[in-house]
Amino acid sequence: MSEQTEHNQRGVVIVGAGMAGVQTAVALREQGFDGPLTLLGAEPHQPYDRPPLSKAVLLGKAEDSAFDVDFEELGIELRLGTEVTGLRAADRELDTEAGPVPYEVLVLATGAEPLTLPGTEGVPGVHLLRTLDDAARLRPVLAAAPRAVVVGAGWIGAEFATAAREAGCAVTVVEAADRVLAGALPAEVAAPMARWYEEAGAELITGAKVAGIEEGRVLLADGRALPAGAVVVGIGARPATGWLGGSGVERGPDGSVTADAYLRTSLPGVYAVGDCASFPSGRYGKRLLVHHWDNALQGPRTVAANILAEVGAGAGEAGEVYDPVPYFWSEQFGRFVQYAGHHGGADTLLWRGDPAGAAWSVCWLRAGALVAVLAVGRPRDVAQGRKLIEAAVPLDPSKVADPATPLKSATA
Ligand SMILES: Cc1cc2nc3c(=O)[nH]c(=O)nc-3n(C[C@H](O)[C@H](O)[C@H](O)COP(=O)(O)OP(=O)(O)OC[C@H]3O[C@@H](n4cnc5c(N)ncnc54)[C@H](O)[C@@H]3O)c2cc1C
Repeated sequence: MSEQTEHNQRGVVIVGAGMAGVQTAVALREQGFDGPLTLLGAEPHQPYDRPPLSKAVLLGKAEDSAFDVDFEELGIELRLGTEVTGLRAADRELDTEAGPVPYEVLVLATGAEPLTLPGTEGVPGVHLLRTLDDAARLRPVLAAAPRAVVVGAGWIGAEFATAAREAGCAVTVVEAADRVLAGALPAEVAAPMARWYEEAGAELITGAKVAGIEEGRVLLADGRALPAGAVVVGIGARPATGWLGGSGVERGPDGSVTADAYLRTSLPGVYAVGDCASFPSGRYGKRLLVHHWDNALQGPRTVAANILAEVGAGAGEAGEVYDPVPYFWSEQFGRFVQYAGHHGGADTLLWRGDPAGAAWSVCWLRAGALVAVLAVGRPRDVAQGRKLIEAAVPLDPSKVADPATPLKSATA
């Protein structure tokens, strides 16, 4: 067999059958890749979408959230229940329990895994919320409406608290920081969101470290014991890249695969995308690790384009740089929260509307241009803001601060 033929037969292999992996496979086919394409996923389930897990799926309003993709029709070999345990770059091979899997081009899309509270693993009644199995385990628990304690007042904690209140649970949310969303938003922007907990009838305890969890109660470092029929730990997630140890793939201190602007890793022919990968943002002048759905949708299109350029179908075309305006949404306490951009490095913060009301936004500017927008119940601000961030045009702060002026009309 000639070297070229062997390479063609190896094809593209994607590790991780979540949003980023599936979208990479689909984008490759959409963009004209007709070689062998294999998608390896550790979970046994048909690939599915995660956002509904803390919303409709958790409350039993949707059975599951499987992607509507016909893998067979697209000629994508889907191998479920297949955990990849190692990468041997010299042989261009992956290790799995079922034997080695050779690749010509490899895409790392293994997502993230939730952080756990040391010592609480295996304690009855303690849950995480990352996978379909987690949601399936939690669903009957919620239906019985126990007293629930949520550890962590981040995005997932708020969404779970919302669902638990809707299911009729008494809910206490415990947060180690002095405020909600401490890692994501400045104090003044998070402050109105803290009030949503109270309005929804959920107790919020900030500045409280969890010392331990026993069956039926959560022990705080200050000596308090909170009764808990169910505990959900939502304290963040870390890139699922432990299996890459010794592979030569460079990773950062946060565990992310440190991809370059083309989403290539430090190894030839190996790309990384989605929750497992960070990338240098030219727009924001720093490396970003984005754990949101839209990044797992947009990144794969860039990866597919760059793979096609590498394997020849798009030969001659320059590589595509990945430099998105990050975007995410969250549904909590009856509100639709959206965020576009990245506010680190902003020099001006402007409110649009009254944060005590049902709909308001916050705009962050740097040197007169919009760099980020957060909107509660004002989707137009985000849609228009996203375009303004991309265009980086100077804005008139007085118009930005006037909620009656459409953002798109706020240019200087
Ligand atoms: C409950 C929940 C709610 C969310 N809600 C929102 C929301 O409202 N808005 C928003 O913007 N974002 C939301 N997100 C975030 C969003 O779902 C993620 O950013 C997105 O799923 C990332 O996709 P991914 O493919 O990179 O990673 P993942 O979805 O984590 O998929 C990675 C897959 O790779 C598999 N895998 C890992 N290691 C291996 C291995 N060694 N071998 C084989 N397979 C492996 C995993 O089992 C997993 O199935 C939510 C996330 C969760 C958990």
